[in-house]
Amino acid sequence: MIQNDKQFKALLTRLKENVQKAKRECAYPGCSEAAIKSHLLQRNGVLKQLSAGQNALFELIHHAFDERQFKFKLEGISKTLSFPGFCQDHDSRIFKVVETEPVDYTDYSVQLLLSYKAFVNEKRKKEIVVDWYSRIIDSHLVRDYQTETFFRDLKKSKYQDELGIADGKILQEQFESELLSSHKLGLFRFLTRKLPRVEIAASGVFTFETSSEIFVNTTISGENIPLNYIFLHFIPLHDHSVAIIGCLNDSSPACLQYVLDFLKGTDKQVLKKISDALILQIENWLMSHEFYHTNIKHRQDLVVEYVQRGQTHYHERDATNIFLFEP
Ligand SMILES: [Zn+2]
Repeated sequence: MIQNDKQFKALLTRLKENVQKAKRECAYPGCSEAAIKSHLLQRNGVLKQLSAGQNALFELIHHAFDERQFKFKLEGISKTLSFPGFCQDHDSRIFKVVETEPVDYTDYSVQLLLSYKAFVNEKRKKEIVVDWYSRIIDSHLVRDYQTETFFRDLKKSKYQDELGIADGKILQEQFESELLSSHKLGLFRFLTRKLPRVEIAASGVFTFETSSEIFVNTTISGENIPLNYIFLHFIPLHDHSVAIIGCLNDSSPACLQYVLDFLKGTDKQVLKKISDALILQIENWLMSHEFYHTNIKHRQDLVVEYVQRGQTHYHERDATNIFLFEP
């Protein structure tokens, strides 16, 4: 029986640890093998090179369960940008082309695989949070201690994440039909741009629609309109960085236009757009020791505050007044 908040917090911590330890199934269609730690970006190439022999990188860590959600942490590269995604066999077989040097980042299959992984990562994050909510809701100890309001709020949050997972179903099917077909159907559109080298690596997916637009749509129409997804990868190579942006070909005209325009402009203009996207849209990024010490460390709290604010920022396509790539 729980008698005070301290005991309640301890119980939540225990449930959280169980959720994090729980085995996840391989995300590949039809496979039920246990998932290993899959890396969003090439571990032995991109990440190793970025770590400059130190085998560790500074990652923006997101704790979905904690109040102070974001922080920069030095992590060994075996752990960075990783998630329980695919089984050993699928992780090495399906993603071979993005794990074997040299990788051609202008190649459609490479762009598709990077985006598929980023998509599965987002989906898995939601599944893990839903699992966490379910464990709290199902706990008799919590039931005896908490109020109805607590459960109502929790169920609402769980429902939101379940909606998010359901909304990605069509996209998932499109990824799978493209990945499984022997000749590519060209369902996705990707653009690439070579940029001056920045010692940051990022890979993620976000919706074109801002939280504010989603809110207006669901409140006015009373239903969930299908969302448009955008994939963004920013990868440091030996002497330059490469940016890839993409979406489904049948995305809304506004989304398609946004994607087509994103990499246009001077290097600095494009880099600023990427910096804004890292702050407001993408949670998965990391950097070299040097970048952390020159560009982040002295204003770490401010950057975290911006990223944190990004979570409740309703206009994610806006520009911010911070530029990560300039010290
Ligand atoms: Zn598998």
